[in-house]
Parts: sequence; C-alpha cells; structure tokens
Amino acid sequence: MAKVCGIYQILNTVNGKSYIGSSKQINERLREHRYKLNKGIHTNSHLQAAWTKYGKKVFTYSAIVECLETDLLFYEDLIISGYKSNNRKFGYNQRIVTESNSGLVTKRTTNKPGEKFNRLTLIEPLYIKNRRRFWLCKCDCGTVKELCVVDVRKGHTKSCGCLQTERQLVWLKEQHKKGPWNKGMKHGLS
Ligand SMILES: [Zn+2]
Repeated sequence: MAKVCGIYQILNTVNGKSYIGSSKQINERLREHRYKLNKGIHTNSHLQAAWTKYGKKVFTYSAIVECLETDLLFYEDLIISGYKSNNRKFGYNQRIVTESNSGLVTKRTTNKPGEKFNRLTLIEPLYIKNRRRFWLCKCDCGTVKELCVVDVRKGHTKSCGCLQTERQLVWLKEQHKKGPWNKGMKHGLS
C-alpha cells in the first residue's frame, strides 16, 4: 500500500464517535492501533474500552486528509476541534501529547525563560495543573498567555491563537480554490 501522510479517523459506526490521529504513514499507524486494541494494550483507555465493548467489526478506518509532514500537527488540531473528538461525548481523543502522533513518548526537558518556539517566548513557570506544566508565554503579536509548556515546545501551541486564526483563513481560502483535500471528495470535485 502506498504511503499516505495525513490525518486518519477511526470511527465507531454504532455511536458515531471518532478517534483522530496523524501519521507520516497512515496505514502503518492504523495497523499498530489495531494490533494494540486487539491485544487489549492500547494506551488510550477510552478507545480500548469501546473496542472491547462494541467489538472490532463496528470500527472503520479512513484517511480524511492528506497533507505535508510539516502540517500534520496543524491539521490534526484543526480536525480534532472540528469533530470535537477530544470531548468524551463525541470521540476518543485524550488530549495527551504522548499518545498523539507516531506514539512518541515525551521526554522530560528543562525549559528556560527566553526560549522561543514558533511565535511563543517562554517568560516564567507558573503552576502545574493535571500534571501539565504551565508557563507564562509571550506571543510575537504581543499577547501574554498562560500555556502548557509541553504543547508550546512540541508545537501543538504555536501562538496565542493569532496564528491559528490566520492559518484557518488561509486554509479555507485554499480549499475553496483547489478543492481535493478530502479523499472522499477528490473525484467528485475534479
Ligand atoms: Zn499572537
């Protein structure tokens, strides 16, 4: 099977809940998910519980967006928000950095004031909430915000929100212009 880099969906066809993920090789990644789910060792307990409860036959898999590797996080974020799949009512995504993307495990790193990631500069550490470490960060646009430092470091959060807004506009304009981002729509539109 060809390598597809992009965003995929694991859908529970009984209750409509989705798990959204991103990968450089979607087919490979889906195989890994299925393997772990079948063994009962998947790190996403919500998805694992559903798999055990409903059985594997009710789940379908699809690539919903093909994109460049550098845009994976951006699209993943956008689509998770779109499907609200990080809300237990609608999906199985647990917003934990360690379980998104190629299953990478977060290493403990030392953060220093003045370090810059994308548009954000770390100012000072604030507090830890739900095992997430929050720092005061300053965005290039001037906005100061309390953000999870792991999200900032990993690029899940790239700005105070101004970048997202800008890019969503650009994205929408592009889709309008050139169409076939959605595999399912590819043929219909061209
Ligand atoms: Zn900003």
